[in-house]
Amino acid sequence: MLNFDFYSPEEEIRLPLYEKYNVRVFLKRDDLIHPYISGNKWRKLKYTLEEASSLKKEVLVTYGGPWSNHLLATACAGARFGFRTHAFVRGEPVANPVLSMCKLFGMTVTFVDRKSYVDKRGLYDHHFGQDDTAYLVQEGGYGTAGAKGCAEIVHELVNVYDHCFCAAGTGTTLAGLCMGMNQLGIPTSLHGVPVLKGGQFILEEVASLGVDTARIKLHLDYHFGGYAKTKPELLAFVRSYVQQTGVMIEPTYTGKLFYAIHDLMEKGQLAPGAKVLIIHTGGLTGLLGMLDRF
Ligand SMILES: *Cc1c(COP(=O)(O)O)cnc(C)c1O
Repeated sequence: MLNFDFYSPEEEIRLPLYEKYNVRVFLKRDDLIHPYISGNKWRKLKYTLEEASSLKKEVLVTYGGPWSNHLLATACAGARFGFRTHAFVRGEPVANPVLSMCKLFGMTVTFVDRKSYVDKRGLYDHHFGQDDTAYLVQEGGYGTAGAKGCAEIVHELVNVYDHCFCAAGTGTTLAGLCMGMNQLGIPTSLHGVPVLKGGQFILEEVASLGVDTARIKLHLDYHFGGYAKTKPELLAFVRSYVQQTGVMIEPTYTGKLFYAIHDLMEKGQLAPGAKVLIIHTGGLTGLLGMLDRF
């Protein structure tokens, strides 16, 4: 079994806003799981690596942008559990702290221009097609094994909630949460906040992982211009939230998620008395590229 002990409590956050609207808000602190195999990235890798291990694979091959939390998590988990790791990184060769840490964990990196990056399977076949020890891990940890790991979030919950919110990139975390809730017959409504433009596709991604999506509602208007795009009001929100709570969030995923929840609350979309769970999916190393903006 590939596993390690971690701590991810459900923590109530008290803010004047929550009091005003009489809503109780809890965070599932998956950001505390690990500094590098952070949050949902460990959830998604757990069964993926177990499968690689049971197939006697030795090198994990995966994909991501140059600031990818998934790449760093894969690099660190590979080092920890005895896999070599290789990444195809989107775009022109660059250096940044996340890629430096990936390399420090032993990951080898190949930069791929945006056009070639589209054909991910082709890249794998070209470089690793003859290597029986190689194992393909999808970009962002997408897949049924990833969703299965995320379903464990629900199995761990101590409280019962009316609403659960998470950020969505590939939709794997949302799929896993939905799977867990369906399995346990929990009546929670599940809300996804896509961090990319045109996030409606997330619902199809979730469904294609074999999950009944009936309980999911997507909130499509909180992408702030697209993936990794920000606006001054988002940065101001992140600053104010961090200063009021002592909980670190970042603009790419959790900032958009928390902004959405506060906005929905102010628009009266969360009934008085409601109990809300927010999944803090971690990913704070993304901040290393944005600290100058704070
Ligand atoms: C990768 C990531 C996500 C996206 O998760 P998906 O399962 O791909 O939807 C959300 N939050 C953080 C912090 C991430 O790093």
